[in-house]
Amino acid sequence: MLRQALLALSASQKARALILATPLTREVVDRFVAGETADDALAVTRRLQDDGKLVSIDFLGEDTVDPEQAAAVTEEYVRLLAELSAAGLARQGRAEVSVKPTAVGLGLAEHGEKRALENLAKIASAARNAGTTVTVDMEDHTRVEATLRLVAELRADFPDLGCVIQSYLRRSPDDCQDLALARSRVRLCKGAYRAPEGVGLAARHEVDLSYARCMRILLAGPGYPMLATHDPRLIRIAAAVADRSGRAADSFEYQMLYGIRPDEQSRLAAEGSQVRVYLPYGSDWYGYLVRRLAERPANLAFFLRALSSRH
Ligand SMILES: Cc1cc2nc3c(=O)[nH]c(=O)nc-3n(C[C@H](O)[C@H](O)[C@H](O)COP(=O)(O)OP(=O)(O)OC[C@H]3O[C@@H](n4cnc5c(N)ncnc54)[C@H](O)[C@@H]3O)c2cc1C
Repeated sequence: MLRQALLALSASQKARALILATPLTREVVDRFVAGETADDALAVTRRLQDDGKLVSIDFLGEDTVDPEQAAAVTEEYVRLLAELSAAGLARQGRAEVSVKPTAVGLGLAEHGEKRALENLAKIASAARNAGTTVTVDMEDHTRVEATLRLVAELRADFPDLGCVIQSYLRRSPDDCQDLALARSRVRLCKGAYRAPEGVGLAARHEVDLSYARCMRILLAGPGYPMLATHDPRLIRIAAAVADRSGRAADSFEYQMLYGIRPDEQSRLAAEGSQVRVYLPYGSDWYGYLVRRLAERPANLAFFLRALSSRH
């Protein structure tokens, strides 16, 4: 219930105005976001890499409504990739970028898919020049078909382009089967959105079971699974399945969000696993923050404590 209310909040303009106007929201934002600028993202990336982690950088923003904004987001990614390369941080994919299709035009009223394709191709090309890759984030269930089409088309030129499968969708085990191919980089997550009955799984334990099933499919295939979860039970299962199937530590990776379970991120890295931290930056952090609050009551409590401590 709380989760649904919070996800509804992420779409509410009134709630957005209220939360943006609260000065100490910043304190909470800083826990989950690198900062406002590309320089902030670079500084945190360097720190994470020095600590043995890989990074995927996300320029915050989604649901872009005009083509100029989609072009500006694309330019930001292209600049960021050049800066990562110049700073020596993109080598061998140690830092890559994550891109939301609606941030680069997928939701535009006219030729949205075409625009997103062109913009993603520009970013993928800049990533290749920098020696790294792109992962295309997955958004709500209405975008899944178009996003998978974009990924399939782009992979003809950029075979390393990564995509995301969300275990809360009923279709996902089939999608994993289709995507478990050589060189195919697939991030598996539970999904941060809601879907109607029939399209999505409502109960948490069903989503977890589906995650384990999808994970087994990906780990059994010849692709490169990217297991994005903070769930200790699923991480244990992943380690056991990878071990049983004789997977080398560099043939898959764990992924977690910046600011969430940093000790677990360090533990996994210290034992020789690859761990990639998803690192958002930018000023458009609202939707991202509310999804993080919706995921875990403790995150919400942290937010409310921060609010009340200043009043
Ligand atoms: C790298 C990455 C990329 C992602 N990309 C996408 C995407 O493209 N599209 C999308 O829809 N979603 C994406 N997500 C979000 C994802 O779908 C989930 O919403 C989010 O990761 C929470 O799910 P969870 O697997 O961690 O499990 P949850 O069910 O939220 O948590 C499971 C358990 O993990 C532990 N845990 C969780 N949070 C904390 C915490 N703060 N402190 C301590 N323990 C904690 C607890 O034990 C908890 O019971 C991404 C997540 C990651 C990590």
